[in-house]
Amino acid sequence: MKIFRSNRKRYLKHREEARALITERIEHLSSVHGFQYNRVAIRNQKTRWGSCSTKGNLNFNYKIFFLLPEMRDYIIVHELCHLKEFNHSSKFWALVEEITPNYREIRKEIKKKRLFLL
Ligand SMILES: [Zn+2]
Repeated sequence: MKIFRSNRKRYLKHREEARALITERIEHLSSVHGFQYNRVAIRNQKTRWGSCSTKGNLNFNYKIFFLLPEMRDYIIVHELCHLKEFNHSSKFWALVEEITPNYREIRKEIKKKRLFLL
């Protein structure tokens, strides 16, 4: 896998298509699994794929647009599950597993893509 060189120009170029795709997946997953969120923001970050605030605001790195759909969905599911479990407890992982039964393999694949964040 090539290292993805990000810069502001690239971010601005892809931000809206990333937003459209991520929003569509969030809406779908929320309606199927009953998540309630507040706002969604798309950001250009170096160290994280996504995050969730206690106020129910979700942040996603625009670079998840370039990941495989199953990886992208896992990252979205992970943050959505934090809306119900704001921690990484066994309850949280059980919730993730309910929606993404093969999340362990997907996580391993995503870890290999850390360089992609640079
Ligand atoms: Zn988490």
